[in-house]
Amino acid sequence: MSLPGGPELFIILFVILLVFGASRLPKLARSMGQAGKEFKTGMREGFKDQPVEGPCPFCGIAVAEESKFCPGCGKSAEDIVAEKNRKEASSA
Ligand SMILES: [Zn+2]
Repeated sequence: MSLPGGPELFIILFVILLVFGASRLPKLARSMGQAGKEFKTGMREGFKDQPVEGPCPFCGIAVAEESKFCPGCGKSAEDIVAEKNRKEASSA
């Protein structure tokens, strides 16, 4: 089995574009970049300063970075971060 070359890579990218939709790609790339950034942050600082931004672990609604409460279920940012850390720890 060989690594994908130029044409194969193009086909793979085209399939990804079809699967995810062109409009969702920037968001996908952003979330992937964010995941990488958060991973690096986590490696460096532990889980203490994990941002609250992202889907709420309780209700799944997106929470803004500066939020103090989840707009969906009303859980505090501290609860959300703590629950995220707990889930990450249990899945690792
Ligand atoms: Zn919530």
